[in-house]
Amino acid sequence: MASLSLENICKIYPNGFEAVKDFNLEINDKDFIIFVGPSGCGKSTTLRMIAGLEDISKGTLKIDGKVVNDVEAKDRDIAMVFQSYALYPHLTVYDNMAFGLKLKKVPKEEIDKKVRHAAKILDLEKLLDRKPKALSGGQRQRVAMGRAIVRQPKVFLMDEPLSNLDAKLRVQMRTEIAKLHERLGATMIYVTHDQTEAMTLGTKIVVMKDGVIQQVDTPQNLYNYPQ
Ligand code: ADP
Ligand code: ADP
Repeated sequence: MASLSLENICKIYPNGFEAVKDFNLEINDKDFIIFVGPSGCGKSTTLRMIAGLEDISKGTLKIDGKVVNDVEAKDRDIAMVFQSYALYPHLTVYDNMAFGLKLKKVPKEEIDKKVRHAAKILDLEKLLDRKPKALSGGQRQRVAMGRAIVRQPKVFLMDEPLSNLDAKLRVQMRTEIAKLHERLGATMIYVTHDQTEAMTLGTKIVVMKDGVIQQVDTPQNLYNYPQ
């Protein structure tokens, strides 16, 4: 878990387009922040800046009070789960989950423990030897989640992780993500177009439009439903 502070963050792409403008947000330990807004409003750009996969053009990003603008992605203690899952097709489920830890030269026994623990949480124990092409969409999605979990990040960033799944799996995975948030005590930042996901998962909803925050509120207030 971690707190994040986004202070006057801007993103200007090399072609001069300002995708995120003067973004200010305080995120507390264990928050489950949801970003909503029309396609192209800057949600993914903001996530990628937090992950360190995109430079911050202006402003300051702090994690637990420390400025991290110039800290590389791999040193940020943040994991990102993409909509496309981005699994390695030639690696097994086990190796997909172990890959990042191997790069970091984590001892084999420790990797094994972490991968098996994540597999247990995500119900992937019987699938560890399979390659991604032999998995269903929901299973691939869980592997992508597993790859993030094994790194035990303080912050999880998820960019529409459920949008490629059918309705039934989406409901199932939504419950899993809520449980993970509880169990891991991690801070989550989550992009979705799905109002049910926003309402059931979020502690705070950030509404964006044209690179600007329009509103920040609890799901109860924003969607005005009775408690
Ligand atoms: P969202 O995730 O809300 O759909 P994005 O953050 O992906 O929005 O994109 C925000 C805006 O920035 C869009 O108008 C998009 O076309 C633009 N954009 C994204 N990547 C680049 C880039 N590399 N160069 C220029 N413009 C970009
Ligand atoms: P991987 O695909 O396993 O992340 P890469 O070679 O792409 O491996 O990246 C090297 C390191 O950069 C990874 O071990 C990881 O720590 C970090 N990294 C890569 N992608 C992300 C991401 N989406 N979020 C945070 N850190 C990342």
